[in-house]
Amino acid sequence: MLFAMIFRRSVPMLRRHCVFLAALAATSPLEAVTATQEILIRGGTVVTSERRFDADVRVRDGTIVEIGTGLAAGAGARVIDATGLRVMPGGVDPHVHLGGRTRDDYRTGSQAALAGGITTISNFAFPAGEQTLAEAIEREAAVIGEQAIADVILHAGITPGTEQAEMTTLGGETGQTSTKIFMVWTTFDAAVPNHMATMAEAGRAGILTMVHCEDWPILAHAIAELTAAERTSLEYFPDSRPVLAEVVACQRAVAMAEATGAPIYAVHVSSAGALRVLQEARDRGLSVFVETRPIYLHFTRERFEGPDRGLYVGQPPLREQADQDALWAGIASGSVHVLATDHVAYRREEKLDPSQTISSHRAGLSNLQVVRPMLYSEGVVRGRISEERFVAVTSTNAARLFGLYPRKGTIAVGSDADIVLWDPNETRTIRDEDMFSGAGFSVYSGWEVTGWPVMTLRRGEVVYENGEVLAGAGSGELLRRGRWRAP
Ligand SMILES: [Zn+2]
Repeated sequence: MLFAMIFRRSVPMLRRHCVFLAALAATSPLEAVTATQEILIRGGTVVTSERRFDADVRVRDGTIVEIGTGLAAGAGARVIDATGLRVMPGGVDPHVHLGGRTRDDYRTGSQAALAGGITTISNFAFPAGEQTLAEAIEREAAVIGEQAIADVILHAGITPGTEQAEMTTLGGETGQTSTKIFMVWTTFDAAVPNHMATMAEAGRAGILTMVHCEDWPILAHAIAELTAAERTSLEYFPDSRPVLAEVVACQRAVAMAEATGAPIYAVHVSSAGALRVLQEARDRGLSVFVETRPIYLHFTRERFEGPDRGLYVGQPPLREQADQDALWAGIASGSVHVLATDHVAYRREEKLDPSQTISSHRAGLSNLQVVRPMLYSEGVVRGRISEERFVAVTSTNAARLFGLYPRKGTIAVGSDADIVLWDPNETRTIRDEDMFSGAGFSVYSGWEVTGWPVMTLRRGEVVYENGEVLAGAGSGELLRRGRWRAP
């Protein structure tokens, strides 16, 4: 039985429990096709973030070796008929939470991702006790080596005790060129001078700083007022985390980026106001990048009026229709760079636990398996965004920002053969029983979607086909990444 966690402490606590879950992970008896076998994907339509074209794709030794029309199969090649299918780069999800008290480890998280056409996932490495960031990454690397099936990147979690010198060693030693700071932590304000020095050093070292933009004092004030009025139930969750807190935090984060010259990446942007602040900063030439999250595209705050409101708890909360419209417009125009899941797996009964309040609750939703089908159906099929934008926000832009491009994030000769074969016409109803996540349910169950991943290749291996994940735990890799460069 899990207990509700105080939200502002939840993330670092999660990470410390990761190692224990590792011991519980089972391995799959199924083995994937060997990576050395040639695979010829024939007759499909290749889609990248830039263009669409009909072509065959030859894969050998884990890599895309040829793209062209009328390619002949080599001896012993597996030929895959992709007639009527899209051939798209595997998804890159740079915002995932695995391990700890949640229900997904690297194995089940990978399975959910691969079944949803995502081949690179991520996690956060928080130092436990006196650990350095590099030691925290080393600790996670060992677990990834045993559990992961998808490829993985790690973001070092900055704490008030992080030393600036760690930035210079981070990229070089660990190959993990991103960090995250949390403006939502009670410890943030006192640590701002240290955070700014760390951010400046990160900028010089080519490391991207991710920022959770919610201003703690404004949240604390809203929570105190609601508590005084005895409005602590989750019905008031959206009121407990006002847009103002996100807007102010984005303004401060932009100011920190401007003062230090360092690039920032705002995670899970949820409101039109916050998006406007970040967009204005970009218009002034600052290196400011924007991520949003599926729940803000598909739900609005009315969900908190219903009895199953606990299912929708995430930080920041669901907003108004105008906010949702602004995020869709941002994806279409390019001012939203990345759609990432902020995947956190809790079981339905945990999310609906009636003891939760505005100040103590399980934040986050399981999203890895359906983020791309939902975006394709609601975005591409409904005519809001192009297929190229779909690829850009679910794969290419994250690969560029997190130092993986062009190894990941595109279909090109020399790139890893991380490929999803996508049926643009397949209509499915999302169902709990098809979910690989340990959450055991999807908040989107019952939604009918058009566009579905039918096969996923990771580094040239068919790792997902016919509803089954074919590769075993430990076949995923912790990827070494390049230093951040302006994309
Ligand atoms: Zn998160």
